[in-house]
Amino acid sequence: MSKLSRDWVLGSTPRAPIWADVPAEKWNDWRWQLSHRVNDLEVLETFINLTPEEIEGVSAEDKFRLDITPYFASLIDPNDPMCPVRQQVIPKGRELKAFESMMEDSLAEDRHSPVPGLVHRYPDRVLMLVTTQCASYCRYCTRSRIVGDSAATFSKAEFQLQLDYLRKTPQVRDVLLSGGDALTMSPRMLDYLLSELHQIEHIEIIRIGSRVPVFMPQRVTDELCDMLAQYHPLWINIHVNHPKEITPELYRACEKLSQAGIPLGNQSVLLAGINDSVHIQRELVHGLVQMRVRPYYLYQCDLVEGAGHFRTSVSKGIEIIEGLRGHTSGYAVPTYVVDAPGGGGKIPVGPQYVISQAPGKVVLRNFEGYITTYTEAGDYDPTAIRAWEARVEKRSEPGQEGVLSLLEGKELSIKPEGFDSTHKRGGSEHRLNRDESKWTPYHAGADETAIPLTASEKTE
Ligand SMILES: *Cc1c(COP(=O)(O)O)cnc(C)c1O
Ligand code: SF4
Repeated sequence: MSKLSRDWVLGSTPRAPIWADVPAEKWNDWRWQLSHRVNDLEVLETFINLTPEEIEGVSAEDKFRLDITPYFASLIDPNDPMCPVRQQVIPKGRELKAFESMMEDSLAEDRHSPVPGLVHRYPDRVLMLVTTQCASYCRYCTRSRIVGDSAATFSKAEFQLQLDYLRKTPQVRDVLLSGGDALTMSPRMLDYLLSELHQIEHIEIIRIGSRVPVFMPQRVTDELCDMLAQYHPLWINIHVNHPKEITPELYRACEKLSQAGIPLGNQSVLLAGINDSVHIQRELVHGLVQMRVRPYYLYQCDLVEGAGHFRTSVSKGIEIIEGLRGHTSGYAVPTYVVDAPGGGGKIPVGPQYVISQAPGKVVLRNFEGYITTYTEAGDYDPTAIRAWEARVEKRSEPGQEGVLSLLEGKELSIKPEGFDSTHKRGGSEHRLNRDESKWTPYHAGADETAIPLTASEKTE
């Protein structure tokens, strides 16, 4: 993407012919955009030359909800079935096809929810599902099990349960509103929710994940920005997958949000035939940073029903990061993640840069293939920080200390479920396995500040 000029920024996206005569004040009103979304075959056929497979997808009874705002629909190339905008929102017959490992709730979100709609997977932050509605519907949506279904939306009573849980869970410092799309909620309801969250003492930041600026930039009004700005620190992640979605309207929406003091990030999903290319991703991230949007995550497509044909290999994601890191601004490089099927959260994946290691030496390679040696300090003392560290309040992460607890010497191993009983092999207690103390590592966990023991400490 080349430099976005001031003339371009002031321009507007050409409308599809069927909306050519809609007066500007209607077109620019988000409520008009919402109530004129397209979802049926007859209307779609008036401005897109649908393929037989698209006709099959659109006509399917049991499909994931279909709705496209007139603004976003206008970005579709009516004659190109491979149009990256079109493929994201127009269903194809193949989305009904089952594939290996597909699941309804592949991230096991509902199993990690102490109350409906509140996914508490990480120690200090939660995902709060506040609505099932979006401005338009992405065919690959991870939450198609609930999203789009107005009957599945959250009741006021459920919001109260979510808020009650948050009030009594002080370890939560970060709440991420998602859904569905929180920015499609009624302004009053959203204001109410944000103000309730803002009042909770231990909640330090609020985040919103929203595709509204992309599907319906008209929603980003001055009033919305003024309302959001009351609840700082508030962060927003938008969701752009292809440079074609970067329009003057999106630019101006992002500018408004930035001027309201909201830091903006972007989350993309890696989608076969849409953005699975180093060169398209470069163009995308270069457009994003010009809108002051920092690429945050690039997601591997989830194993969710309906998304089979969008999946790429994981190696494609690694190749894309290889083509970004070092080749372009560090600000423009997202973290590529695989969201763990079954519910382990996001796992970052990328190229390997450490080539080899020996005591005192790390051999690294850069993006060009240049191989270098970093010589480590021979007298580095990781315990020197302990006095200062002791003054920092340590956050408790009950049951979730993870691999860090191994490094800190608090635990020696992490065992798969049933490990001890499997290895007992049904044997009884006998003279050699009776004494538990023989498996207790010396000094482990003894020090609260928990830095691995230095050689001199071990001999004390
Ligand atoms: C993605 C996600 C978060 C936020 O993760 P970050 O890596 O902090 O952006 C929190 N909870 C759940 C369940 C998530 O899926
Ligand atoms: S905007 Fe997000 S939640 Fe809504 S359909 Fe798209 S991916 Fe799903």
